[in-house]
Amino acid sequence: MHDPASPGAGRYAPSPSGDLHLGNLRTAILAWLLARQEGLHFVMRIEDLDRVRPGAAEQQLADLKSLGLDWDATPGEDPQRHDHVLRQSTRLTAYDAAVQKLQDAGLLYECYCTRREILGATSAPHGIPGSYPGTCRNLSDTERKSRREIRPPALRLRAEISEFTVQDMFAGEYTGAVDDVVVRRNDGTYAYNLAVVVDDHYQGVTQVVRGDDLLSSAPRQAYLAALLGYEPPHYAHVPLALNTEGKRLAKRDGAVTLRQLRDAGFAESDILEWIRTSIPIPDAPQFPKSAQDFLEYFDPKAMSSKPWIITNPLDL
Ligand code: GLU
Repeated sequence: MHDPASPGAGRYAPSPSGDLHLGNLRTAILAWLLARQEGLHFVMRIEDLDRVRPGAAEQQLADLKSLGLDWDATPGEDPQRHDHVLRQSTRLTAYDAAVQKLQDAGLLYECYCTRREILGATSAPHGIPGSYPGTCRNLSDTERKSRREIRPPALRLRAEISEFTVQDMFAGEYTGAVDDVVVRRNDGTYAYNLAVVVDDHYQGVTQVVRGDDLLSSAPRQAYLAALLGYEPPHYAHVPLALNTEGKRLAKRDGAVTLRQLRDAGFAESDILEWIRTSIPIPDAPQFPKSAQDFLEYFDPKAMSSKPWIITNPLDL
């Protein structure tokens, strides 16, 4: 929760589905730099509601530390107990409470559609491609009762608007589509869009820095935040790392994680040097030992707005 006496916070929130690659590491460094340079706190969150690979979270945190990143305890969490990292799997009570609040305000409805049914539906109420067509929005009590017998329901937001505007450091005033997002899936798992909003608020996050693949999610998350009575954060969606074919960087692109690069003989300072030139931070020392060395030289206004094209470092 943002305490007006605190400066606010930035954050990094990886999903522990595997090792972080160069693009993820660069985004984490940018999130940390933007927060630290503005004198904000910086908090860490592991988004482990699904897609968890055992050991991945620990490896991700160790990698971020080895590049020099540090982070603060979430205010109100015991700093001794939680290694300063918030794990979403420990936050179910908070998500329950948020869902209850939306429910009490009449802002949720049960949805019995399968993915296939949604994809098969032709018309969307607001004309947003891929948005939920509203099939279950206005069912009668009898219809709900009979559908509930076939399949457990997911819970969707009854969005009262079709678009919302957020402030983004790079995209400026960005208006994007809002639809009836799922807040709890039909297996009882809380949806990413709900968890991210509840946790950013809980961790006092005022600045969200992440890959620009999530820019289009920001309006619906900020709207959800507003419905829950939270102040929406400021955003900074940064360009992704791409492979030489212009596709999002992935494991199959060769040695792209810290572990793979170390095995191939590269050191942290090599990786930091590639990231330094990609941002770029021309005045910072070359081949730095730590991202801390970037801090006094980093200028967000000089940041490249282009994706970072990664040629496999082993081919260099
Ligand atoms: N956990 C998400 C991911 O790793 C990021 C979510 C966010 O930054 O809002 O893609």
